[in-house]
Amino acid sequence: MPHFKNYIAGEWVDSSSGETMENRNPADTDDVIGTFPAATKADVERAIDAANEALPGWANMPPPARGAILDKASAILDARQDELARALTREEGKTFAEAKGEVLRARDIFKYYAGEGWRMGGQVLPSNITGELLYTRREALGVIALVTPWNFPIAIPVWKMAPALIYGNTVVFKPASLVPYSAVLLVEALVEAGLPKGVVNLVTGSGRTVGDTLVGSKRIAGVSFTGSVSVGMGIYEKAMKNLTRVQLEMGGKNPTIVLKDADISKAVNIAVAGGFGLTGQACTATSRVIVEEGAADAFAAALTEAARNLKVGNGLESGVQMGPAVSEDQLQTDLDYVAVGQQEGAKLLAGGEQAGANGGYYVQPTVFDHVEPQMRIAQEEIFGPVIGIIRARNLDDALEKANGIGFGLSASIVTNDLQQAFQFANRIEAGVVKINEPTTGLALQAPFGGFKNSSANTFKEQGQAAIEFYTRTKTVYVGHG
Ligand code: NAP
Ligand code: MG
Repeated sequence: MPHFKNYIAGEWVDSSSGETMENRNPADTDDVIGTFPAATKADVERAIDAANEALPGWANMPPPARGAILDKASAILDARQDELARALTREEGKTFAEAKGEVLRARDIFKYYAGEGWRMGGQVLPSNITGELLYTRREALGVIALVTPWNFPIAIPVWKMAPALIYGNTVVFKPASLVPYSAVLLVEALVEAGLPKGVVNLVTGSGRTVGDTLVGSKRIAGVSFTGSVSVGMGIYEKAMKNLTRVQLEMGGKNPTIVLKDADISKAVNIAVAGGFGLTGQACTATSRVIVEEGAADAFAAALTEAARNLKVGNGLESGVQMGPAVSEDQLQTDLDYVAVGQQEGAKLLAGGEQAGANGGYYVQPTVFDHVEPQMRIAQEEIFGPVIGIIRARNLDDALEKANGIGFGLSASIVTNDLQQAFQFANRIEAGVVKINEPTTGLALQAPFGGFKNSSANTFKEQGQAAIEFYTRTKTVYVGHG
């Protein structure tokens, strides 16, 4: 069985305890991908040492030179797109097409931030004193801890790492324990691109040991976390004790509103892409469809048919439209919520059961109708292919239902009515708003982040907004009169 290592201070190393964790393919649990180090607290400290030592050299390198390395990383991902996508499907379960999209996204993010090396800079401000130059300077924040989830094992680390690196920070990267293989392949690409030793360090191991040590360290300047609300809240509390800068992007319970003027087949396509794409395992996945009464029966019937026709299977097989749940735990969570929905009195229209027989964590695309806004299946993040239809009287009622929840990540509406679409954009409580598009899918050049409990609401990710988290600003007064 292949064994993989951590990358600390420019070397591939085992856990100092020698302990390992095993990783399997969720589409075929007999397929063992390999073993990975279960790092110790001491390993994490060594990684933080290495990142601190590498910091001055990296931060003082001209930004375009840092950009050239990111550009090279982008080219490597491009050249290896099929290989990486296959590895990603094998590890996480999403379909090959979804995995390929993710790898290409990562390639483009590196390219985008490589260009930032030529653009980043401060401001020159007018001075109120004769003979004074007043300007700001953007500096690297320091050593950044990246703690990432399993659902986008390449794209999320890259959308954190690329801005961290271009702005001169060094990194300790702790991937989710379900996806260490993607992390190793990503770091290999960066090493090959010529990243100096210590600039990126990879430490695999449990959240409890590796994650906790990182976020509690006084020598970490910033923590960028994506994952669940409960873990994120614990990280926030811990990091705040050291006044460590924190960015958290967390869960969602994202609604698509369908108004009665909507084209039903278009609305169904949008709900299927948002709710069943990526097996519903996206933070921006559609989990509630709030339908105006006049369209609800037709929409429910059409969505049921679409759910039943979706081909579920191993994401590496052609024609498969939805891969397995990522793990046995996640599969069980999905099935548990189906039972909860039935107990609560929602009407199961499609799916609800384990799918396939070939040793993977497959679950059927599931549709509930007559979901009430206060039901648990309407309030709690499931993170699986489960859509609940909620009926609404009109846009006001739909907005009240959409907003009556602790999350605020992404939301969409399907309508041709311009006035109602803009009403929605203005009144919905979500950081990402889509009109006639699924709740999933983000532009890498645009700011991204949720509202309410979906985020720490501190700093946005992606695009040029990322500079705010990954730099500190110095104001310089030059008296030359
Ligand atoms: P998770 O359980 O919160 O884990 C996220 C990361 O935190 C993992 O690397 C995990 O390590 C680590 N961790 C766990 N306990 C920790 C601790 N006590 N201290 C420090 N780190 C700790 O989330 P997940 O199950 O991987 O991902 C699913 C969640 O991510 C969903 O809630 C989803 O909505 C959210 N998500 C949000 C976004 C967004 O941008 N808003 C995007 C994607 C996913 P281990 O793997 O070793 O436990
Ligand atoms: Mg988890």
